[in-house]
Amino acid sequence: MAGETVIKPDLQFVNQVIASGGDTVKKCYQCDTCSVVCNPTPDAKPFPRKEMLQAQWGQKSVLKDPDIWLCHQCSDCTVYCPRGAKPGEVMNALRKMCIQEYATPPQLAKMVGDPKFLLALIAFPVLLLLAALKVTGHLALPEGTIVYAKFFPTLLVDAIFVPAFFFAAAVLAKGVLAYWKDINEASPWKVKVEGNLVGNLIATLKDIVMHNRFRLCETTYPRSTNHLFVLFGFIFLALVTGYSFLGEWFLHDESPFAFYRPVKLMAMVGTAALLYGIYNIIKSRQANAEKAGLGGYYDWFFVYVIFAVGATGLLSWVFRLVGIRILAYPTYFLHLTSVFCLFFYAPYTKMAHMVYRTAAMLYARMSGRGF
Ligand code: SF4
Ligand code: SF4
Repeated sequence: MAGETVIKPDLQFVNQVIASGGDTVKKCYQCDTCSVVCNPTPDAKPFPRKEMLQAQWGQKSVLKDPDIWLCHQCSDCTVYCPRGAKPGEVMNALRKMCIQEYATPPQLAKMVGDPKFLLALIAFPVLLLLAALKVTGHLALPEGTIVYAKFFPTLLVDAIFVPAFFFAAAVLAKGVLAYWKDINEASPWKVKVEGNLVGNLIATLKDIVMHNRFRLCETTYPRSTNHLFVLFGFIFLALVTGYSFLGEWFLHDESPFAFYRPVKLMAMVGTAALLYGIYNIIKSRQANAEKAGLGGYYDWFFVYVIFAVGATGLLSWVFRLVGIRILAYPTYFLHLTSVFCLFFYAPYTKMAHMVYRTAAMLYARMSGRGF
């Protein structure tokens, strides 16, 4: 028969969706309420109903559907779904699987998403940092005034964290380039991108930084504000880290910086924004758990890594100021451990959302999906 399409359900894929947090996917009976109440979806070929159908039918190609990244997990659809199919949670599970699909090595991506490996993931940086201290003869806590560079020399920090950063950047770049190629491949339901890539990328980044799409959400609207605090906290702390690196290598201006210095003020504001945002995200996730879903281990892993980075950074500073040596150095060690986890595992955690969502939103903008 002309035009006939045979669909072969991949049951293993359906089971993976269920295991990744989309355990309600089979409840969907395709009423389309979710697409109607979703504010961020474009009018043509709206999400998330079609993604629910693809996931139910075991169509792995849904991972190449850029629309899964246009969803901001506001949960409006989950609240209104008459079947309790939680489409917002299913879309989140699909994004997790998309990241795992494109990340290298896939084994590490699987480990980051599986609570069984949590201890191993934490043990790796702990042992690496301890080994570095042991080899360089810095294992004992230094006497006298608390100076973190006496305990963990700046050169040693650079020797570990710069390669970790470039490893993460390379894995993310490889993954997102493969993803970009896939979403651009010919398909009956996709269109080719057109227009100025750089100009559209700038407009997309502006959209992301201002959280314009995120702010269309209703049920968990405050999430967008909390998310903004975390984002700007990150940006401030990234600028501080960048300046510290330049100061160490080129400007002969090393930390600790005096209170009144702009770089110090930026570090304090960045840490406060990060902690305020992440604390509110934790609170609002718990408060909305019943109607919007609590999120799975994958979501909470990322949330707690950010919280650990902010909390240990703040405590390291406080303990140094009040001179509690016995607490300051171990807390600084934990701070380095959590920062390592944040960067090194970034291509496999929700941190990778930043690059995949940017690519998908860029595709949407350039293919006329209304972004
Ligand atoms: S997820 Fe819920 S609201 Fe959406 S189509 Fe399925 S049953 Fe209807
Ligand atoms: S979670 Fe929000 S953005 Fe995502 S599909 Fe549902 S209503 Fe749309």
